[in-house]
Amino acid sequence: MPTVAEIAERIAAVRARVAAAAEAAGRSPSDVRLLLATKTLPDDVVRAAVLAGAALIGENRVQELVAHTAAVADLRPEVHLIGHLQSNKVTTVLHPDRPLVACVESVDTLPLAERLSRRCADLGRDLEVMVQVNVSGEATKSGIAPDGAAELAARVAALPRLRLTGFMTIGLNSPDAAAVRAGYARLRQVRDAVVRDLPGARELSMGMSGDLELAVAEGATTVRVGTAVFGARPAPA
Ligand SMILES: *Cc1c(COP(=O)(O)O)cnc(C)c1O
Repeated sequence: MPTVAEIAERIAAVRARVAAAAEAAGRSPSDVRLLLATKTLPDDVVRAAVLAGAALIGENRVQELVAHTAAVADLRPEVHLIGHLQSNKVTTVLHPDRPLVACVESVDTLPLAERLSRRCADLGRDLEVMVQVNVSGEATKSGIAPDGAAELAARVAALPRLRLTGFMTIGLNSPDAAAVRAGYARLRQVRDAVVRDLPGARELSMGMSGDLELAVAEGATTVRVGTAVFGARPAPA
């Protein structure tokens, strides 16, 4: 298991990459948040990462979200859901035991948003959400098509208790940097169109370990990093 100091060193190296990319794009490094993607990690490693300075963690799976948030509850990091969410899991994710869940980045249908909104009303809490957009068109990826994103965003933003903060995407998985970057540019264009009516929706959650420089160049306000900090994940069984 990596030590807190080792994780802190890896986080510092990633922040340096983000800072270099931001400066190259004429942006301030402080305008890009680092989210640590914790999927498949043991609870102890997630806790070590938060102790190492990670203030924002991203969870893919509901079962892991439950275990990880319990393991770091006293340290109070901000937690985002970045994986696909089935409607029947909404009550588990948004639960009085899990106040750390601040944002669901993976909203890609109106029924899911409506479900989240109703659950928040029942709990008397608010929730930040992002609309997940499938910029690559890959069939394996969740997210609404770019053409439908503005309309979904407007409908989501109109729901009680939800605060639309922006857009999230998982980039094209390809060695072709220009093609990957074009996808991130597409998400920025979606955001630029929507933000005229919804000035609160300016966040762009995009870029991962292998391509965060391209995302920062296109305006990412959050990059989501796992491998560069925690090493390669075991292949799924
Ligand atoms: C795993 C994951 C990441 C991080 O990917 P790495 O390549 O490990 O940095 C980012 N976003 C989502 C949605 C993920 O599932």
